[in-house]
Amino acid sequence: MSGIKELDQCYVASTYGRFPAVLKEGKGSEVFDEDGKRYIDMGSGIGVNLFGYSDEVWKQAVVEQLNALQHTSNLYYTGPCAKLAEQLCRRTGLKKVFFCNSGAEANECAIKAARRYAEINLGPEYTTIITLNNSFHGRTLTTLAATGQAKFHELFQPLTPGFVHADANDLEGLEVLLKAYPTAAVMIECVQGEGGVNVLETSYIEGITKLAETYGFLLIDDEVQTGNGRTGKLFAYMHTDVVPDIVTTAKGLGGGLPIGACMLGGKVQDIFHPGDNGSTFGGNPAVCAGALANLNRLDEAFLEEVNRKSAHIFERLSNQPGIRSLSGKGLMIGIEPEQGTAASLAQKILEGGVLVLTAGGNKVRLLPPLNIPDELLDEALDVILQAFASQKG
Ligand SMILES: *Cc1c(COP(=O)(O)O)cnc(C)c1O
Repeated sequence: MSGIKELDQCYVASTYGRFPAVLKEGKGSEVFDEDGKRYIDMGSGIGVNLFGYSDEVWKQAVVEQLNALQHTSNLYYTGPCAKLAEQLCRRTGLKKVFFCNSGAEANECAIKAARRYAEINLGPEYTTIITLNNSFHGRTLTTLAATGQAKFHELFQPLTPGFVHADANDLEGLEVLLKAYPTAAVMIECVQGEGGVNVLETSYIEGITKLAETYGFLLIDDEVQTGNGRTGKLFAYMHTDVVPDIVTTAKGLGGGLPIGACMLGGKVQDIFHPGDNGSTFGGNPAVCAGALANLNRLDEAFLEEVNRKSAHIFERLSNQPGIRSLSGKGLMIGIEPEQGTAASLAQKILEGGVLVLTAGGNKVRLLPPLNIPDELLDEALDVILQAFASQKG
């Protein structure tokens, strides 16, 4: 007994319901707790550790940069920040990047950009941002307002005004709101993560851009969770013919260090002027160097492997005892149990030596490292299948 759990419970703000494991060290897709118990990680720190724990390529890029410069502030130019922005723009077709430290902050930047654009191009009353029910956009007061789940709105009133929520995959319902509210932007997750691993229909996403031609609003695509190869494309919008006006990402981009990015398309590339937005740590050279090393590895061949593993997971979990439904794309997968709660299943799976997450709609959520070896993936799936089967009434 190290007393870590007790110390944490005594001194760390009680905002988290933690699993009863004190994690000590990891390598690749495996992690060990303080008692030496080994887990296969099918959550990757909520989709952050794209290449698992202590990945050599990422670590070398970060350490090399740490040995040169760890931080400069944004008063100066640095190489890794500029090069990462260049790669993100080259690979998406978006034009400029604002760097910050988290998904919520990236979304704040997107909302700021959309409000500036709408005021200038549509009119001062065009302030509404429409987001979707069951979405999740972050924990700041503004991104909580953006989050389309009532349970996130209750505790911290008043939230930032100007957000209304539409049902996913319902273009008619969206148009009703567009007629009622002068709208600056519609904000979506191509696959809703926290809200239940719900995949938006391609025709719906493409339909939103048709409506944008009529109503003039911008499309903001929150790829904080779906980005960086997670769904089997570099960004999830690439499964469609749509190029959003603004794309945000975070989680997996930094490979384990904090980073957020708000990518601005042609309509908003010059919306910000010096002083309009900022971040002390944003674009930190060590974090950007690690992100760049990871991004460079997310090539077509690697993404093919992500899709192959995804197909394998769907095949092994389909029509298995205790599993009511499967959802998701790439290595972002939701499993709905026939019986019992996702939380109790996650606990049982942890006892079996596998880390998983939960999501809305009573889902167990899998976000394994993108490079998880086949043997470990199968071993983890054995434990997961057994837990679901044992839950069957
Ligand atoms: C996690 C998440 C966020 C919030 O990111 P933080 O880094 O925790 O601020 C926003 N949007 C989506 C889709 C997310 O999954």
